[in-house]
Amino acid sequence: MEAGDVLLPWQAPVIERALALRQAEQLPHAVMIDLADRGDATVLIHQLAQALLCHTPREHTPCGACETCRLLRAGTCGDFGLVTLETDDKTKKLSKNIKIDQIRDLIYQLNLTRQHGALKIAAIYPAERMNTASANALLKTLEEPAAGVLLLLVTHNRGRIPVTVRSRCQQWSVPLPDRALADAWLEGQGIGRDVAETYLDYARGDPLLAADLAHRGYAELVQEFKRDFAQFMRGELAVAELASKLNQSDADLVRRLIDMILRAYSFQTSGVSADGDSQQTVDRARAQALQRLYGRAGSQLATDENNLDFQLQLEDVLISIKQILSRRPN
Ligand SMILES: [Zn+2]
Repeated sequence: MEAGDVLLPWQAPVIERALALRQAEQLPHAVMIDLADRGDATVLIHQLAQALLCHTPREHTPCGACETCRLLRAGTCGDFGLVTLETDDKTKKLSKNIKIDQIRDLIYQLNLTRQHGALKIAAIYPAERMNTASANALLKTLEEPAAGVLLLLVTHNRGRIPVTVRSRCQQWSVPLPDRALADAWLEGQGIGRDVAETYLDYARGDPLLAADLAHRGYAELVQEFKRDFAQFMRGELAVAELASKLNQSDADLVRRLIDMILRAYSFQTSGVSADGDSQQTVDRARAQALQRLYGRAGSQLATDENNLDFQLQLEDVLISIKQILSRRPN
């Protein structure tokens, strides 16, 4: 989900807020930035650091010419450190967690003398990927912060971060943009207004996810899946065939399709339509069975690999959906 090195317009208020606080000499020692969108936040982190560390900023914009700006661009500024998921040298895969050694190195760096200015910035992203040991290692620094240090914990999922860590940070959130801004941004990505609405609905308002889904042709996949699923329900398409067809798409898209169908039927059977109106037909037993399956399917399909096991799990979930929906109402 790359959007180049341009700051996303709905993230810009974060930088303004930080600069205003610094001007008022009220910059906290730890901030948790909670992003509602799923995009890569490293551009935001770098621009925020540069805006705060630049010697001669103009109107919220770093000058780009001072020593700090030059060092930051070269990635050698000793006043800024970013800890993130690392790529394994051998497997070339991205690690699942931020490891304790990375946090320890960051803390060690923080305790060094400042190099150029009155502020040092240490960022952790995605902060929800710290394991328990990493979070514990960070706690002491949060409890006894060094002077002139700003700790930035940037996350897409604040709820996964231990309360002990969360409660010691000032909470900032970056909500999703409104539809007009989202439409304009998508248009800049080459996604016309005619399809932007459809994809923003699929992505529940997240323009980055909408752009990603659009570039991967998700809408066509939905249409195809709806046709295939109807055939499967009528007994015209075997479960193995449907699962094998689905298995040709990326696992995250398949999870999205299953999620969509389960949500749609859950709404229907619980007597609430998607727009919140209550309906006549309520089938509590069926609604509960769908709810249970919704939870179970999430963990059954929680893999990034399209392999035989994924296909078998998929078949199991599809059979379960069919069984629940074919059951006679009580
Ligand atoms: Zn500068």
